[in-house]
Amino acid sequence: MSTIGHLINGQLINPDGRTAAVFNPATGEVQRHVALASTLTVREAIEAADAAFPAWRDTPPVKRARIMFRFKELLESNAQQICTLIGQEHGKISHDAAGELQRGIENVEYACGAPELLKGEHSRNVGPNIDSWSEFQSLGVVAGVTPFNFPVMVPLWMVPMALVCGNCFILKPSERTPSATLFIAQLLHEAGLPPGVLNVVNGDKEAVDALLFDPRIQAVSFVGSTPIAEYIYRTASAQGKRCQALGGAKNHAIVMPDADLDNAVNSLLGAAFGSSGERCMALSVAVAVGDAVADALVGKLAEAMQGLKFGAHDEASNDFGPVITAEHRSKVVGYIDSAEMQGARIVVDGRSPRVAGYENGFFVGATLIDGVTANMQSYRAEIFGPVLQIIRVKTMDEAMQLINNHEYGNGTCIYTRDGEAARYFSDRIQVGMVGINIPLPVPVASHSFGGWKRSLFGDLHAYGPDGVRFYTRRKTITQRWPSANVREGAEFSMPTLK
Ligand code: NAD
Repeated sequence: MSTIGHLINGQLINPDGRTAAVFNPATGEVQRHVALASTLTVREAIEAADAAFPAWRDTPPVKRARIMFRFKELLESNAQQICTLIGQEHGKISHDAAGELQRGIENVEYACGAPELLKGEHSRNVGPNIDSWSEFQSLGVVAGVTPFNFPVMVPLWMVPMALVCGNCFILKPSERTPSATLFIAQLLHEAGLPPGVLNVVNGDKEAVDALLFDPRIQAVSFVGSTPIAEYIYRTASAQGKRCQALGGAKNHAIVMPDADLDNAVNSLLGAAFGSSGERCMALSVAVAVGDAVADALVGKLAEAMQGLKFGAHDEASNDFGPVITAEHRSKVVGYIDSAEMQGARIVVDGRSPRVAGYENGFFVGATLIDGVTANMQSYRAEIFGPVLQIIRVKTMDEAMQLINNHEYGNGTCIYTRDGEAARYFSDRIQVGMVGINIPLPVPVASHSFGGWKRSLFGDLHAYGPDGVRFYTRRKTITQRWPSANVREGAEFSMPTLK
């Protein structure tokens, strides 16, 4: 059985040491192992990055961008293999993996605009014969730690932008889905990236802590669950590093009485159950305004859910696959049990699914729970499984209050035909990414991605314009070339324009 190693200084290495099992979640079998980097191995990677930095920093942005153009082509021509690797370790269906890859490629395309993005700001004559400009300089060696659920897209939120901004990068992928991430890092080298500019270290807390406590790491981007995001943010900040740490979510959709219900039902199905609900933007709560809407919604959802198909990643007719591990499966089932015990009604029960040929897979069927209330454990927590909960309220303000009171604020959506209601909602809702009749309002690559409240620790969102700011440091230069013929006296007051 193979062991996935690290990519350091352009070389694949596989040192002896601790390893972890990588499962195929559809079969429940261990299919390979992954090396867990020691602190020493992480230091080796940082050394390689540190050594590569001066030349990379001085490489013109247009040359860095050309590597990204080639990288984009390689991602496209290797799409099938990338999607297979994602499917084998994550379990998501091939069409969903292709969507993940495409969203990642769009970030590479955005990074190809580096010469434009890094132009800086210039002001002529801010004083007599004085010009001033701000330029955006690279930080040095930066790190990224990524979650299991987007092994390609999330690294592509970080790496292309950090690199075109002139930084060297240490990437620590999820130990549950390491192969696709390592493969795209190899493609980036095939595209012409010099050795040491991007290094991949697989591992767990030991590797992450080695990055957090190394003074050579200037900035850390993290995407994962909220408790770890908070730990990363506090630790990195205390070490004087710049940090953005994106965490978990509980995304609500408000269904208004005037909504186009059939379209809302279809889009809720995809957003709640796509990728087995293992997306940080998954819609896991539908808040129905009025009992009439709630009854109709539950009826239509329950009927449509009978037609959902789940199974292995390589059968394209499946709608979604298994969840990531056996432990996670138990956790998801535990939340459904707790909702039932706290008085909710399980309308469609996915706790005992049967998938012929995959009896040992980590499957949970699509589950619909009605009569959920704000005090329930299943409502407070991020379930991260194919579970949609219905909350019934009387007014839109009550629905918004519920969302604003929740600890997470990643994404939300309203289904309505009323523009005034939609605008009122987007103005006042305490959530970072808002959809109007759009269930998964994941910003495109030319905007930036990030939630509010405990869904994001830090000031700058991921990728897009905020990505450029996160991976660069502003320097402002003020310049004057005085004439040799003019003698000036000493000036002791604060310089001003008189
Ligand atoms: P996770 O927090 O368990 O792991 C994320 C990363 O942190 C992994 O690389 C892991 O190795 C590392 N890690 C785990 N425990 C650690 C520890 N104690 N110390 C240091 N590092 C540690 O998350 P996950 O299960 O891989 O991913 C699912 C979570 O990610 C969900 O909560 C989901 O909402 C969130 N997520 C958020 C976004 C977003 O943009 N906000 C996007 C994708 C996923």
